[in-house]
Amino acid sequence: AGVFYGASTTNAREMTGSEVVVVGAGNSGGQAAVDLARYARGVTIVTRGASLAATMSAYLVHEIEVNPRIEVRVESEVVAGGGDGELEWLEIDSRATGERRRVAASGLFVLIGTESRTTWLREVLQRDDRGFVLTGSDVDVASWSLPRPPYAFETSVPGVFAAGDVRANGVKRVAAAAGEGAVTVSMVHRYLADLSRESGAS
Ligand SMILES: Cc1cc2nc3c(=O)[nH]c(=O)nc-3n(C[C@H](O)[C@H](O)[C@H](O)COP(=O)(O)OP(=O)(O)OC[C@H]3O[C@@H](n4cnc5c(N)ncnc54)[C@H](O)[C@@H]3O)c2cc1C
Repeated sequence: AGVFYGASTTNAREMTGSEVVVVGAGNSGGQAAVDLARYARGVTIVTRGASLAATMSAYLVHEIEVNPRIEVRVESEVVAGGGDGELEWLEIDSRATGERRRVAASGLFVLIGTESRTTWLREVLQRDDRGFVLTGSDVDVASWSLPRPPYAFETSVPGVFAAGDVRANGVKRVAAAAGEGAVTVSMVHRYLADLSRESGAS
């Protein structure tokens, strides 16, 4: 208990009066830190980067700078944690100095980014250099097998579609994933209509 992969209002309230650590310096991490600081005694943001500014919007960086309950540890990473049945402490390494510090923590909020898990598709679908699946106009048509170009969200294999975070060049947001899914349904219908037209013609 005490390790979260997101930061809801309920989680934040549970941290009332506690010390918490947020890992990640994106907008999700920054927003979580600001929300948690309304309830927690202290919030420490841990990031491997040299500053928040490279990855976080300026308005959040400013909110964090002026919030006395939030501390930022740059060039650092969480390397260990423990407790008796629930999280009680974490160890944070400074990559700059090599110093390791043990801090009290009742909550660890992990708000770090997306990684693709598509290695199993590598010989089947075109992917970018980070493993995200190419779709629509991003598909290299040199190896595309149909006279028409790929439909929106169609991968390099006709009739196979990808929507949401797994797609290359997507915006990696919930609303985008849901919207792309909805559009993909209509593209699948279009693909199926093509197939029935072709089988009717032959
Ligand atoms: C820390 C964090 C904070 C975020 N905060 C926000 C936010 O505040 N607002 C916002 O809009 N977005 C936020 N996002 C992004 C948002 O979560 C994603 O954009 C969204 O969840 C993408 O939806 P998806 O369906 O494409 O992928 P996912 O939600 O990742 O769903 C993919 C599903 O497929 C399953 N799966 C994977 N491989 C296989 C397989 N081989 N076979 C079967 N199933 C498989 C996975 O287990 C998972 O259940 C955040 C993301 C992170 C990581």
